[in-house]
Amino acid sequence: MDNLSTPAVIKDILSRHGFTFSKRLGQNFLINPSVCPKIAELGRAESGFGIIEIGPGIGVLTNELCLRADKVVAIELDPRLLPILGETLSEHKNLKIVNADVLEVDLKKLIEDEFSGLRVAICANLPYYITSPIVMKLLEDRLPIVSITTMVQREAADRLCAPLGTREAGAVTVAVDYFSEAERLFNVSRGSFMPQPNVDSAVIRLNIREEPPKVADEKLFFKIVRGIFTLRRKTVLNALSGSMGIEKPEAAKILDSAEIPQNLRPEQLKMQELISLCGAYDKFLKE
Ligand code: SAM
Repeated sequence: MDNLSTPAVIKDILSRHGFTFSKRLGQNFLINPSVCPKIAELGRAESGFGIIEIGPGIGVLTNELCLRADKVVAIELDPRLLPILGETLSEHKNLKIVNADVLEVDLKKLIEDEFSGLRVAICANLPYYITSPIVMKLLEDRLPIVSITTMVQREAADRLCAPLGTREAGAVTVAVDYFSEAERLFNVSRGSFMPQPNVDSAVIRLNIREEPPKVADEKLFFKIVRGIFTLRRKTVLNALSGSMGIEKPEAAKILDSAEIPQNLRPEQLKMQELISLCGAYDKFLKE
């Protein structure tokens, strides 16, 4: 359907279907016609690619994805949007809509079943209430994908794309940096959405690494990262002992062995230091 991201067209469709926005599901639909083509192009919607979209809403971005990619699978939780999508995207034969919570979907299987012979990328304007859990799932599931291109709240973009070792970095930043190279693509103002949210947004792209860095034990690595970042403003000595339940002299020994000064803050640690910390901890457990 043409002009899908014009406010008048959206209002007409929504009122004909008696649709009311759900704040709980993060429903802020794009009404700026220039944004979706840009996300689609930068998100690898092109020949030879299959795209998974999360949260199609009424299909503004989906439409642009279907015009460019070989195949699109869009996962939408709200069943009230299905008849609307049936109307707005009826012309696209390369589209499949899945009515499900993305956090519950076996995405590896979906990729195997739906995208045989295609390279795969993920594109979304994510519901902001679960941005981090969705990004973590997409990364930790180790999906055979090239990139994740998504709109997020501007503060989330700051955090996800922050260089490690800076105040903005959190445990999620470490995971992003471990599995991908993050790029901030462009900002989007709050006026580009209906209803207008109280925050501004930005589009980011996570380019998935072929090989994540080598760590002694990946589960332990993320356990330590999550643990020390919950106490990010404490010294790394206190954070390590407090979050991992070990005595301070033991924590001090591990930090010495990893050559990390005890008085640094967890948020000051860079990837190489976190990897060394995991190695030293793993050695301590095996001693
Ligand atoms: N892509 C549309 C756009 O840009 O206008 C809508 C984006 S809106 C910010 C987020 C969409 O995600 C909504 O359609 C909402 O119903 C859907 N959603 C919310 N939680 C979801 C979940 N757990 N799984 C799949 N979709 C979800």
